[in-house]
Amino acid sequence: MECPLEPNRAAMAKLGTLVLDHVVDFVAGIADHPASMGRDADAAAGLVKGFLEPPPEHPGELSALLDRLDVAASCALETAGPGYLAFVPGGGVYSAALAAFYGNAVNRYGGLAFAAPAMAAIEESVIQWMARDVCLLPEGSGGLLTTGGSMAALSAVVAARHRLLGEEISDGSVYVTPHTHHSIAKTARLAGIRARNVREVACTPDLRMDVESLADAIRDDRLAGLRPFLVVGSAGTTSTGTVDPLPELADLAEREGIWFHVDGAYGGFFQLTERGRERLTGVERADSVVLDPHKTLFAPFGTGALVVRDPASLYAAHEGGGSHRYLRDVEASHGLPNYAHLGPELTHDIRGLRAWLPLHLHGVAAFRDALDEKLDLTQYAYERLIANPALDVPWRPDLSTVAFRCRDGDKETLRLLVRINDSQRVFLSRTAIDDRQVIRMCIVSHRTHQDRIEEALDIIDNATSQRPALSERQRRRSTAPQGR
Ligand SMILES: *Cc1c(COP(=O)(O)O)cnc(C)c1O
Repeated sequence: MECPLEPNRAAMAKLGTLVLDHVVDFVAGIADHPASMGRDADAAAGLVKGFLEPPPEHPGELSALLDRLDVAASCALETAGPGYLAFVPGGGVYSAALAAFYGNAVNRYGGLAFAAPAMAAIEESVIQWMARDVCLLPEGSGGLLTTGGSMAALSAVVAARHRLLGEEISDGSVYVTPHTHHSIAKTARLAGIRARNVREVACTPDLRMDVESLADAIRDDRLAGLRPFLVVGSAGTTSTGTVDPLPELADLAEREGIWFHVDGAYGGFFQLTERGRERLTGVERADSVVLDPHKTLFAPFGTGALVVRDPASLYAAHEGGGSHRYLRDVEASHGLPNYAHLGPELTHDIRGLRAWLPLHLHGVAAFRDALDEKLDLTQYAYERLIANPALDVPWRPDLSTVAFRCRDGDKETLRLLVRINDSQRVFLSRTAIDDRQVIRMCIVSHRTHQDRIEEALDIIDNATSQRPALSERQRRRSTAPQGR
């Protein structure tokens, strides 16, 4: 049956119901999906080949296409599931998917406020909430929603560069640590900063930026003719969830006249909780903060945010005008900014809907409670992991990530990770800290609760007590080709 580009009312409802049925089945079954694809690469290879086919000339059948989509979606890490404890999980609340559907269906233009002023106000309300209520920035702060933390970082780096360096950028230098997210080095490069001028400052043994080393680096670089313009503090590193000493970094940046950027892509929304707010003290002194609603606000992928103390700095960097131009822009549009003038994109969907609808439907407290639960679960996981004699758990978690390794060394750590992930009930990832492998458990999904964390810890306990049936040497001997 053919489906016209513009179906009639009855057909629209029918098509929508079909999609909804598939989605509800999928989402309701998420907790029971395998946490990963397992190690059968061949199955995925066949699917990938099939899905690379170009589209047909003639129409297809929606229900058959949805069946195919279900197959494609199932061939994946279950990133939305409760067992996903790898990288930084993004659960994706159902209500945000509904908001995305609504937003795409009414398809309002979000680049310039006059085109849909009330929808732009919805977006701005989300930005203001993030700037004022979450990050505690002063009145007059603002920002824009992006597709993710990296795009948000790009606009922050460009704004800092423009304000502090002007057009002569070749001597500009940026300060990070070995644990700062790679998106900063990447966006600094995109912003025309020399790779060698992205300086890695040493950390203290608890993995936080060493403020004295930072001060030394800035002084030495100035003497060498560089122009330090940007210090990046992490409000939760991706590897271990560690929070840099934000107040000290803010002091130093202020003293030196350097832009202070806080990367809160993972940790920023823990500000909603009391414990998080304590640990992230200093974020309110930032010039710019990256937040990732698609991580700790459980929004679907494609939802990032940048908030800045002075939105005119974004305007100046992206649109080329000064603050008077920004204010004129704002006055022209019901007091709303034109997001096309604050970032690289012109056309822009009303992506704030994906946060606005969930926040209004569930209330902010629901998000605070969910994040508090993650902090509790992490504390619980930490206590159980340190009780395991085979494991070394070097850092007490600041937020919701706990890192551990085998006392027996890297090889054993990597083997342990394989054993854990082979369970297909949970999926963890690893990283290297100080040249040693660590496994990390990042508890962020709104779908992850006590039961799954218990299960994860049982899996880890079993996997660590499990002696290999044969020692490595015995196994090599038994599988080695027999001599002639
Ligand atoms: C995920 C992450 C980023 C990058 O954000 P994307 O949304 O993936 O582009 C930056 N910084 C930190 C700390 C992160 O965890």
